[in-house]
Amino acid sequence: MLKPSKRHASIGIIGGGAAGLVTALTLQEAGFPVHVYERHKDFSQNRCSWLAGGMIAPWCERDASERAVIERGKEALQWWPEHYKETRCRGSLVLSSQHDRHEIVRFARRSEAFDYLEGEDLAALEPALEGRFQEGLFFPQEAHLDPRKALLSLAWLLEQQGGLLSFGQEVSPRDIAEDIVIDCRGWAAHPEMPRLRGVRGEMIRVRSYELNFSRPVRLLHPRFPVYIVPRGEGIFMVGATSIENAYDGPVSVQSAYTLLEALQRLHPAFGEAEIIELNTGIRPAFPDNLPDVEQHGRLFRANGLYRHGFLLSPWCARQVKEQVMAYCGEMA
Ligand SMILES: Cc1cc2nc3c(=O)[nH]c(=O)nc-3n(C[C@H](O)[C@H](O)[C@H](O)COP(=O)(O)OP(=O)(O)OC[C@H]3O[C@@H](n4cnc5c(N)ncnc54)[C@H](O)[C@@H]3O)c2cc1C
Repeated sequence: MLKPSKRHASIGIIGGGAAGLVTALTLQEAGFPVHVYERHKDFSQNRCSWLAGGMIAPWCERDASERAVIERGKEALQWWPEHYKETRCRGSLVLSSQHDRHEIVRFARRSEAFDYLEGEDLAALEPALEGRFQEGLFFPQEAHLDPRKALLSLAWLLEQQGGLLSFGQEVSPRDIAEDIVIDCRGWAAHPEMPRLRGVRGEMIRVRSYELNFSRPVRLLHPRFPVYIVPRGEGIFMVGATSIENAYDGPVSVQSAYTLLEALQRLHPAFGEAEIIELNTGIRPAFPDNLPDVEQHGRLFRANGLYRHGFLLSPWCARQVKEQVMAYCGEMA
């Protein structure tokens, strides 16, 4: 059978999470007609991308990841502002209490591209933190976004550019009529991907009427690191646990306690904040915690984005595009 050429190949993408939508736009911009199939009736039922922090933080993520995350993650710092105008390029801040100062030292040794800040400089960046921390690391090149608004915006862009997005379509690769199939089902693909494991991540959203932050803040702790990501209008996403199982049941008392206790350590005024959401997502991960693209004839599987769905999806989508173009006989 002749392989379809780039000019004629149509592409069906399964899954409308970060991986599916970023891949769809990347292939569409390379000239392919794309159709995304999403099983849920809207994005709000997604159990991973919808719940993410949305930090585009390659240098901070180096703390718990391979060096490859920095190089691959840098692509996202260009891709997201080009495709989602509300991407906030304001850097991120890393703090620890004086008692856990060794954590800042350890973090700094593993990372790069940061400025070391002392008390007054910290307060200048985030006035709400005045007088609370004596030192911190500022990563000026990092960015963040609201995943919920970003998914909606990518879907709008895809459709504006002639792509199709069908909700309420639970499909398997063999159901797809298009020439090429891209499987971006995240954790749901695990029955067909034995290498994939699920990593439970619990998060909380709170609303504070007193506090205002401009950028993500990570509070280091040897056992209970926590981060907050400001969403505007007093809303903060607080995350996240990382538990090595794929149980997607409700947030446990222990996890809620840990996240909320750490939040109050960041600022006692969070004690008065309202809890507006507790939720659990399952991150899809390969053994090396890096994403990968597998090819089986006309089927490509892009998965394993782990804690880096927004950070590494532009890199992963580019891998898909290059493999699809090679398959079509037209190398990029
Ligand atoms: C609490 C938490 C915080 C996080 N914070 C960050 C962060 O700050 N920065 C970052 O970069 N990453 C973060 N992540 C990681 C990121 O969320 C994931 O890596 C990413 O969402 C994975 O995207 P995905 O598209 O592969 O999977 P998903 O988001 O799970 O998308 C898969 C989609 O496929 C659909 N689907 C499944 N089966 C079918 C089928 N048969 N037919 C049709 N559709 C189907 C699903 O409904 C779903 O919408 C976080 C994750 C969690 C849980």
